[in-house]
Amino acid sequence: MGGTRAVVVGGGIGGLAAALALHRHGWQVTVLERAPELREVGSGLTLMANAVRGLDALGLGAAVRSRGAADAAGGLRTARGRWLSRLDGADMTRLLGTSAIGIHRATLQRLLRDALPPDVLRTGATVSDVDPDTGEIRYDLRGEPAAVRADLVVGADGLRSVLRTRLWPDIPPPVYAGTTAWRAAVAFDRPVPVAVSWGPGTEFGMVPIGDGRLYWFAAVLAPPGGRAADELAVVRERFGDWHDPIPALLAATPPEAVLRTDLYHLATPLPTYVRGRVALLGDAAHAMTPNLGQGACQAIEDAVELGAACAGVRPAEVPGALAAYDLRRRPRSQAVARASWQAGRFGQQLRHPAAVALRNTALRMTPARAALRGMARHTDWRPPASA
Ligand SMILES: Cc1cc2nc3c(=O)[nH]c(=O)nc-3n(C[C@H](O)[C@H](O)[C@H](O)COP(=O)(O)OP(=O)(O)OC[C@H]3O[C@@H](n4cnc5c(N)ncnc54)[C@H](O)[C@@H]3O)c2cc1C
Repeated sequence: MGGTRAVVVGGGIGGLAAALALHRHGWQVTVLERAPELREVGSGLTLMANAVRGLDALGLGAAVRSRGAADAAGGLRTARGRWLSRLDGADMTRLLGTSAIGIHRATLQRLLRDALPPDVLRTGATVSDVDPDTGEIRYDLRGEPAAVRADLVVGADGLRSVLRTRLWPDIPPPVYAGTTAWRAAVAFDRPVPVAVSWGPGTEFGMVPIGDGRLYWFAAVLAPPGGRAADELAVVRERFGDWHDPIPALLAATPPEAVLRTDLYHLATPLPTYVRGRVALLGDAAHAMTPNLGQGACQAIEDAVELGAACAGVRPAEVPGALAAYDLRRRPRSQAVARASWQAGRFGQQLRHPAAVALRNTALRMTPARAALRGMARHTDWRPPASA
C-alpha cells in the first residue's frame, strides 16, 4: 500500500486535515497550495464537538484543547443583552462527551501543518485542471507549467473551487447570502460568555480563543461588494451602543485586525462529491453560511471520513472507496448546510419587528434541555472506528 499517492489541492483547514488523515493511513501526500506561503490568516473559529472529535482522530485533540479555550457557557441575547436562551457548557460536555473549542484559525492551521512531514506542502502551486480518470493534475508552479499524476486527487480548494467548476460545470457558482460580516481577534482579558446577540437583521458574537484573546464577529444585511476605508468605524457605528462588553471590545480592537467578508454559499447542492479519482471536500463540496459555525467542522469530518474510506486501498480500488466516502458525507454535510442557511434566516437575517418578537418569545419559552438537544443534532458525529 506504501505506493499510493494522493495530491490535495488547497492548503486550508480542509486540505491540511485531509492530508494528515491520508498520511496517517500510509499515503504519500502532496498538498498544492496557490498562496506563495502559508500565511497566518483569518481570526477566530469555533470548533464544535464534532470537529474536536475529528481532531482527536487525527491526533491533535490534546493540542487543540490546550491552545484554544473551551466554551464554558453561552447562549443567545438581544442587542440590549437580555438572554433569549442559555446553554450550560458542562451540560453540553456531558451530552456530547467533549466541549466546543474557540481557537485562532492560524493556530489550528499551524498545528495541522506541523503534524505533516515538511516536504508535503508545495506553495506557489496554482492548479488549473484535473483528469478524473487518470488523476493527472496540471498546475502552474511559480510561473512554470507543471503536471503530476496521483491515485487520488482531493479538491480542497475552497468556495471558488477550480476542480468543482471543471468537473461539475453545470452547477451554478456560489450565491451571495445577503449578509456581510466583520471579524477580529483581540487581546481582551475580561471573562465573557460565548454569546451571539441579535438585533433586526444584525448579529454580534464573541468567543474566547485562549491566550487572553477573544474573537468577535458582526454581521448585517447589505448588498455585496461594499468596502469602507475604516471598517472598524462602520462596525462601531452599527454596534457601538450594544450591550456590555461590545463597546469595550470594539474599543480594544486595532483597525487593522478587522476582516470583512461577504457571505456566499453553494445554494445548489452537488449530486455527488466524487468523480473518478477525484473527491471534493470542505467549502469546495458544500460551502455554507457560517450561522451554525460548521463550515470548517464539516471539512474536518470530511477529511477524517475520506482517510478512513481510503485506508489500505490499492490504486484500482480508489473510485470505489470514494463512492463510499460520498455516501457517508454528502447527506450529512448538505443537511448541515441547509440547517445553517435556515438558522441565518431565523436568526441574523430576521428583521420584521413582529417576526423578531415572535422568535424571541419562542426562544425564551424553549426549555434549556430542548435547546441543547437542538444544538446537539448537528454536532453529534463520531469518527468511524477505522479512522
Ligand atoms: C465570517 C465567517 C465565520 C466562520 N466561522 C466559522 C466557525 O466558527 N466554525 C467553522 O467551523 N467554520 C466557520 N467558517 C467557515 C470556514 O471558515 C470554512 O468553511 C473553512 O475555512 C473551509 O475550509 P476549506 O479548507 O474547505 O477552504 P479554504 O479555507 O477556503 O481553503 C482553500 C485553500 O485552497 C487554496 N486554493 C484555492 N484555489 C486553488 C488552486 N486553484 N490551486 C491551489 N490552491 C488553491 C486557497 O488558497 C486556500 O488556501 C466561517 C466562515 C466565515 C466566512
